[in-house]
Amino acid sequence: MKLLLQCAAILFITSCATKEQKEIIAHRSASGYLPEHTLEGAAMAHAWGVDFIEPDVVMTKDNELVILHDHHLDTTTNVAKVFPNRARKDGRYYVIDFSLKELKTLKVHERLDLSTKKRVFPERFEFNKSRFEIPTLTEFIELVQGLNKTTKRNVGIYPEIKKPEFHLSEGKDITKAVITTLRNYGYEESGNIYIQSFWPATLKRLKTEFKTSIPLVQLIASDSWNESSANYEEMLTKEGLKEISTYADAIGPWLNQLYVLKKGEIIPNNVVSNAHEAGLKVHPYTHRLEQLPKGMTNKMFLDFVFDELEVDGIFSDYADLVVKYLD
Ligand code: CA
Repeated sequence: MKLLLQCAAILFITSCATKEQKEIIAHRSASGYLPEHTLEGAAMAHAWGVDFIEPDVVMTKDNELVILHDHHLDTTTNVAKVFPNRARKDGRYYVIDFSLKELKTLKVHERLDLSTKKRVFPERFEFNKSRFEIPTLTEFIELVQGLNKTTKRNVGIYPEIKKPEFHLSEGKDITKAVITTLRNYGYEESGNIYIQSFWPATLKRLKTEFKTSIPLVQLIASDSWNESSANYEEMLTKEGLKEISTYADAIGPWLNQLYVLKKGEIIPNNVVSNAHEAGLKVHPYTHRLEQLPKGMTNKMFLDFVFDELEVDGIFSDYADLVVKYLD
């Protein structure tokens, strides 16, 4: 957000530490308040004055780009009710097996846990109330650009290319489709965008094959999540971060990868400083009121994140609170 001077109210202070520009990313739009990845949520996040709104992007059977966190449909839509016979052998409903027209008949709802069928965040938006659609990437971009015009703001977008390996194995080049759409909407030179992916090969392709000037973010998962075939433990080492800096501009690590808990104390490890040394910005995920470290208030946590961890930005489900905090 805006440049803030952090001057202690002490006389004879010789220098003021400047809080550099922190970047606030509305994680899956306004997911603390409205079902994730809906246009309604994007409009809400835009009104907060965040720096970026995040769309996660997956591809349909007919090669359209839609905004969903998963390449499956079963945890955030009523697909099983509308298309009961369209699951694969593993029981999952894949976005890539449906046309855009079919997807547009589904209702988006608050996230369910796949195994328990219970809500992941029970206190969030009323389950199955109102009606929310799966947006396309172009609908999302046109909404953000339209609001930028009417509000005279310059809110950016922070698209994630989801599961590029899976898409390629299904014969879909999602990376090419995403960069083409972004270029069509003027993002190549806009300075108002980052592209993120968990799979390094996608980012490397964007840089070398597509020669994009859009800043790239290497997302870092826990190896236990089987997010891609990459080795994330290695990425978090000093050498790993140096290697990332050859093709990306920032990392998006899991917050828990940036600190250790010792005798009830929360202490930064050296990932952020090593990343900065390698010339990488650090934008961790995800700030959630429901998942603050034990014993911490929201204010204590944001103080820790910005003043002690010294990250350059953050993904938040409650980006409005981060905007207020940094203002
Ligand atoms: Ca994401």
